[in-house]
Amino acid sequence: MTGSFDQRSTTTSRPADELQRRAGRVMPGGVASVNRLVSEPLYIVGAHGAEIEDASGRVFVDYNCAFGATILGHADPLVAERVARESRRVGLVGLGGTDVEVELAERLVGLIPCAEQVAFVNSGSEATFHALRLARAVTGREKIVKFQGAYHGWHDAVALNVASDRAALGRRDPLGAGMLASTLDATLVARFNDLEGLRDLFDRRGAEIAAVIVEPILHNVGCVAGTESFLRGARELCDRHGAVLVFDEVITGFRHGLGGYQEIVGVTPHLGAFGKALANGFPIAALVGEASLLEHFSPRPTGDVYLAGTYNGHPVMVAAALATLDRLEEPGTYERLYALGARYRHGLDELVARHGLPARASGFGSVWLLEFLTGTPSCYEDLLANDSRTDAAFRHAMLERGHITSTTPLKRWNVTLAHTDDHRTRTLEAADAVLAELARA
Ligand code: PMP
Repeated sequence: MTGSFDQRSTTTSRPADELQRRAGRVMPGGVASVNRLVSEPLYIVGAHGAEIEDASGRVFVDYNCAFGATILGHADPLVAERVARESRRVGLVGLGGTDVEVELAERLVGLIPCAEQVAFVNSGSEATFHALRLARAVTGREKIVKFQGAYHGWHDAVALNVASDRAALGRRDPLGAGMLASTLDATLVARFNDLEGLRDLFDRRGAEIAAVIVEPILHNVGCVAGTESFLRGARELCDRHGAVLVFDEVITGFRHGLGGYQEIVGVTPHLGAFGKALANGFPIAALVGEASLLEHFSPRPTGDVYLAGTYNGHPVMVAAALATLDRLEEPGTYERLYALGARYRHGLDELVARHGLPARASGFGSVWLLEFLTGTPSCYEDLLANDSRTDAAFRHAMLERGHITSTTPLKRWNVTLAHTDDHRTRTLEAADAVLAELARA
């Protein structure tokens, strides 16, 4: 812990409850994003490395890590320094371009297999939004294919059929009200890792399909990896039918490697969406891909697809990304992340075996979670076997012991470069106690 982290905030009685009361009056539900609510009031006043401190002075080992964004750990000194320097040097002008954005685009083109050009936006949702708009423009078609269980952001074309109840499978299942029915209905929902199903869909409706968008690992419902044959088959089907394949690498990108999951699996999509770990939690995202596609975003008269944004390529966020890449490119970074993740999974597998629980450690690289089911899921439908009550109970009990991630079942636990073997030992000790209780219950 850093020095400033040790300093406790001035606390009145139950400050988190008081903050929640105040927040609830002036912010809907007291939070800025629906996914942030956990089982008790949580207001953060400090976050350094692998640890966070809340308004009541409680210190947690953080495994949510901004839903995977803070790959280096919180408040990384190198990133903080670059951000401070850039905000003094340029800030945002918003005409022309900047030297730093050119450098970042060049680095992304050098790192990501599908990247010939880069469009900077501010969030993962914007990146997937523009990917689909672009695909519709270049194909002249309207339909989008997404997979059940995948999350691609908050916009109408993709905000459906994520962690659906069994009863909602096979039906339109929007994440909320107020979306355009016509947009929702233009999205066809398919089964992940089912190449035959996708082929059948293309045989029936290929002439209508503009794009297939896929999380190469279903990471919003834990960790179900797309097989190489599935992802390669999706690319071939898109090529044969003139559709655009979009890999949504908002989570996998920079968390699992510098070239995204596309480099690991050896399948290159037409477009890729990146965000989160790209800038260690600062809001910048990138839509990358073939130049023949990205060129459509050029200003008129060269281009014909509209891409604009006051904050696109914000130099301070770009600087955060450059500093993050500097850290991630240090030799041994991913070996360290992968080794630590594997040690958590190994430890958890031992614990569930010892306590006789029907559960398994799942994950990839620096991501881990417990699935309370038997067998190896290959699609969202298989995950319905997860015992979500036990899953949630595990998360609540871990939170009470100071080890925190989202309390929603199947959400990922992430490690960062700031997590140490000491964090792992403490977390596995807590998990041991919690799993023993769950086994007794
Ligand atoms: N795609 C994936 C795979 C994501 O996990 C997310 C965010 N959880 C998004 C897109 C949307 O990103 P953002 O929240 O930055 O809009």
